[in-house]
Amino acid sequence: MDDLTELLHTVADEAGRFRAGLPERPVAPRADLAGVLPAFEGPLPDHGVPAGQVIADLIGAGPGLMGSAGPRFFGFVVGGALPAATAADMLATGWDQAAFNAVLSPAAAAAERVAGGWLKDLLGIPAGASVGFVTGAQGGNTVGLAAARQHVLAAAGWDVGARGLTGAPRVRVLAGQERHATIDASLRLLGFGTDGIEAVPADRHGAMDMAALATILAADPADTPLIVCLQAGNVNTGAFDDLRAGAELAHARGGWVHVDGAFGLWAGASPRLRQLVDGVELADSWCADGHKWLNVPYDSGFAFCSRPAAQATAMSYSASYLSGSEAISYGPGDLVPESSRRARGFAVWAALRELGRDGVADLVERCCALARRFADSLTEGGATVVNEVVLNQVLVDVEHPGAADPARVDRIIDAVQREGTCWLGGTTWRGRRLIRVSVSNYATTEADVDASVAAVLRVINGTA
Ligand SMILES: *Cc1c(COP(=O)(O)O)cnc(C)c1O
Repeated sequence: MDDLTELLHTVADEAGRFRAGLPERPVAPRADLAGVLPAFEGPLPDHGVPAGQVIADLIGAGPGLMGSAGPRFFGFVVGGALPAATAADMLATGWDQAAFNAVLSPAAAAAERVAGGWLKDLLGIPAGASVGFVTGAQGGNTVGLAAARQHVLAAAGWDVGARGLTGAPRVRVLAGQERHATIDASLRLLGFGTDGIEAVPADRHGAMDMAALATILAADPADTPLIVCLQAGNVNTGAFDDLRAGAELAHARGGWVHVDGAFGLWAGASPRLRQLVDGVELADSWCADGHKWLNVPYDSGFAFCSRPAAQATAMSYSASYLSGSEAISYGPGDLVPESSRRARGFAVWAALRELGRDGVADLVERCCALARRFADSLTEGGATVVNEVVLNQVLVDVEHPGAADPARVDRIIDAVQREGTCWLGGTTWRGRRLIRVSVSNYATTEADVDASVAAVLRVINGTA
């Protein structure tokens, strides 16, 4: 074996060993940042170190690894990584392909084109939409809103690509009160700023109040350039905005509708849950994550746009690539912020093929059923679930009634993480400090949920 092949065997063995061990090991890292820094520290070497030694040293940083790919990690919204998707991603690195266009890597371009088509089919997005393979939903929101900015200003006679925003017609940007913070970051990057965001109140579940949307829309002349950000899947409660009503209201005023569907858009892949995204096809741009619910390794997300020319005009740097109006004529690199980029499409293609249509539906439905089980078992154990569990997110209140002590919630979360059976985090929703549970991993079983609930209850009751 040559050196590289031997090295790849070493890392494949290590990755396989790590992943196989996840169900048994404590989920939290054994070392914190300070504990693991020494494994990396030291002066920049004057002379090179043999590759085998470098990799052995890197593997030595293992204690600082989080078990987030494992079946009992319920923090944030974090998926695992399916076997074929993991292996395909390692191939993408081994092959070192640049997913810029079909000349630089025909295979990378083909994988993105085919996987992009499958994604649209699964998620209920029109077949004519363009798809950019981005790093995640933050990237997807930015691309979608850049296309929106391009389009609504062009319709007002302003070429934002050439002239920028200085002196441009005012653009109204509406978004839900409980939008994900990445929407604000995207709007800052795009020069809209955040002060001008018109926040639409949420209903008691955390979805946009559509009557309030109608009222706010009516406050300005109908010909004002308009972008409305809707959300499929509130990151706390899992609630869905009414996409059909929201899109119809916004379109009646000539607005652009962007849907942040980082994890919630996957409900569209399940016949049983699809009604949650009713009307999804009416939007103008969408983002979804691959690395959350599809269980593709980091980093993987998608930016879809019903007007491929708007996406390509906003993103590509060379107008000479823009030959024709069909999505098919745009290269993968014309639809994303990056120029050179790794071949993310291989892992997405692999995940979709490994699961198939019924496998994706089963993954989504299973996670939702397990979230329900989490909620029911914690309720039986005396905790209070404060959200309607419509998807894979559960919000749990563990404060003593009448003795509000938000710090206690964080002490419990900290103790649960240290106990090691599972890992879950906290959130503040409507002024209450809560435990948030997200079930997003393909490998999670009922036994994992039961063991985790038991651990949480032991901590709450002071017996762990
Ligand atoms: C996670 C999430 C994002 C950001 O996604 P990244 O993959 O971290 O970029 C945006 N919106 C929602 C609703 C999310 O859940």
